[in-house]
Amino acid sequence: MKTRKILALAGDGIGPEVLAATRRVMDWFQAAGRIKFDVSEGLIGGASYDVHKTPLTDDTVTQAKAADAVLFACIGGPKWDTLPYDVRPEKGLLRLRKEMGLFANLRPAIVMDALASASSLKLDLVKGLDIMIVRELIGGIYFGEPRGVEQLPDGTRRGYNTQAYSTAEILRIAHVAFDLARKRGKRVCSVDKANVMESGLVWREEITKLRDAQYPDVELSHMYVDNCSMQLVRNPKQFDVIVTDNLFGDILSDLASMLTGSLGMLPSASLGAADSSGRQPALYEPVHGSAPDIAGKGIANPLAMILSFAMMLRYSFNLGADADLLEKAVQSVLSSGIRTGDIAEAGQTPVGTVAMTDAVVKELTRLAA
Ligand code: NAD
Repeated sequence: MKTRKILALAGDGIGPEVLAATRRVMDWFQAAGRIKFDVSEGLIGGASYDVHKTPLTDDTVTQAKAADAVLFACIGGPKWDTLPYDVRPEKGLLRLRKEMGLFANLRPAIVMDALASASSLKLDLVKGLDIMIVRELIGGIYFGEPRGVEQLPDGTRRGYNTQAYSTAEILRIAHVAFDLARKRGKRVCSVDKANVMESGLVWREEITKLRDAQYPDVELSHMYVDNCSMQLVRNPKQFDVIVTDNLFGDILSDLASMLTGSLGMLPSASLGAADSSGRQPALYEPVHGSAPDIAGKGIANPLAMILSFAMMLRYSFNLGADADLLEKAVQSVLSSGIRTGDIAEAGQTPVGTVAMTDAVVKELTRLAA
């Protein structure tokens, strides 16, 4: 069995707690003989700044590029909020994504039955929800040139950014969306603003051409982003895979994540381009931040990070059955009423990070027997 090299980055706040929980789950898979890991740990964010005076060292970048996958928890916290922008914890994560060429961000929004009532939407709208948002991550208006702030002759200022997408940038993210759709419901909805933006028109035309040429078996629809934001709260179950640009994806994926009710449950994956040997840079992380308000208290919900590991099994190692097993274990733990504080309902006594992890490991053993 091939040994998979993992770089684990705990980061700040609750990061070390949720990573320790996830490593116990990884140990279970290794002890069960299902997969072999070689895990090394590194520093990122404030934890790296405290030691190296930078939120990400070149050495950590090298290790990340050499790993089969990176498992990252979260960064940031009030301790580092007054630092100059170029050494802030967030800068470390942005640089890592860029250095690894992670252009595709996958954010599933899945509503587990046991948590359906935690959504702010009506139960029948979200029960059984399973959508995947594919966001372009390293192009578009956040990176486009020219950008800046200029002084105007009348003494006022003008801030400006550029939205631009090339054919190559559009096609590589579209391939990710179509390939994913083939493994799911075979439907892609591409979201743009082609009615008022040239970049949106090119986006729409290139995606349509690609579908016609290479993915005739996948149903493609197009939606303007303003309509999509409305449809996501009106009838979210109409979607299977949504593919969109960096700016629209940033907003829509946060909106979709709240359909599920809790930040502590949401995993994500960021993928780069596969090389000629098929090796693909990949980073897996929970959507939540470092939760400084509860850090060190032993009460963080580890499930978003554990489910990020499930995504690693599925997308980096093609171990779909193992990913299914882990997701099923999480679902049955929740169905049995075990909850951390962030997802506990009235009448439920919350458990801590360790007890939640104990329950997942125990359930894995029971399901695998
Ligand atoms: P946050 O996600 O850290 O916390 C928001 C709220 O959700 C808090 O009340 C927190 O206690 C709770 N929460 C989050 N994750 C939880 C979990 N696993 N279990 C239980 N409760 C959980 O967002 P924030 O408060 O806006 O930001 C805090 C810090 O995190 C900031 O420094 C911010 O820059 C950083 N941040 C980092 C990332 C990242 O690492 N990718 C993402 C977002 C924010």
